[in-house]
Amino acid sequence: MAERITGHTELIGLMAYPIRHSSSPAMHNEAFAYLGLDYAYLAFEVDNDTLEDAVKGLRALKMVGSNVSMPNKTVVHKYLDKLSPAAELCGAVNTIVNENGVLTGHITDGIGYMKSLKDNNIDVIGKKMTIVGSGGAATAIEVQAALDGVAEMSIFNIKDKFWDNAQETVNKISERTNCKVALYDLADLAKLKEEIADSYLFANATGMGMKPLEGQTYIPDKSFFRPDLIVTDVVYSPRETAMLKMAKEVGCKTMNGMGMMLFQGAAAFEMWTGKEMPIEHMKEVLD
Ligand code: NAD
Repeated sequence: MAERITGHTELIGLMAYPIRHSSSPAMHNEAFAYLGLDYAYLAFEVDNDTLEDAVKGLRALKMVGSNVSMPNKTVVHKYLDKLSPAAELCGAVNTIVNENGVLTGHITDGIGYMKSLKDNNIDVIGKKMTIVGSGGAATAIEVQAALDGVAEMSIFNIKDKFWDNAQETVNKISERTNCKVALYDLADLAKLKEEIADSYLFANATGMGMKPLEGQTYIPDKSFFRPDLIVTDVVYSPRETAMLKMAKEVGCKTMNGMGMMLFQGAAAFEMWTGKEMPIEHMKEVLD
């Protein structure tokens, strides 16, 4: 470390609370070291009360940028100069890029998901997908998929506090993209089966299958899947959720959330450094 950090080293931050558990600093610093890039990535405990000052600090220190996580993702736009189309549609920012004092907010979670599909030779553009969820991860995926050219999207969610957001996402996607989108109650399992039946891809974008819901799935049985359906999960811990296990047993091609995590970081990395993240090396390190 002493050898790597110099007077020229550029700083990139991560503003969230709690944040000490994050794997992002290890990921980005490994990539900087591997490519010999003179940047350092540090996590800062920043909550809504200190966020404005932290962004002012970013400006004053001429930091290259920052990642932003909870509880700041839906708040930080207030302190920025510009937003990417996806960040504006999602109402959330996870990456700040500082270009000569102009701070732009981006959301790279959806980019990460779409890139991880591509990395697995899955092409959903022009096709139909069915997706469950309307929280942060789901909204980012839904907005990016619609912006990238998915033709049709059926969104399901339980009728909880996220339902209104699901409705809002559907409205925004309808108004701002060419994607045909509809929202259904996840309690209507007959509808879920019907929508999956003519979809190219099915995605879980909720925490179902992860602690405290590990081992569980809302998919009642294998008859909901068919061998040529692609089944993806945002969950990466465990690597194989109960839903992905069921899909594999049916013969479906599956993808867990590791790729999304890696590629959302890679997208931010590229925005800050102008260099591609060494993906294959990072896959080895992260596994
Ligand atoms: P969130 O709290 O914003 O959203 C939670 C979502 O889960 C909502 O749609 C909610 O309605 C739904 N939900 C909650 N309980 C449910 C249940 N019992 N049955 C069905 N749906 C239920 O959470 P988030 O930030 O969107 O994260 C969701 C998952 O995505 C988490 O497992 C998280 O680890 C994962 N995630 C992965 C990545 C990645 O890069 N792979 C990135 C972000 C989040």
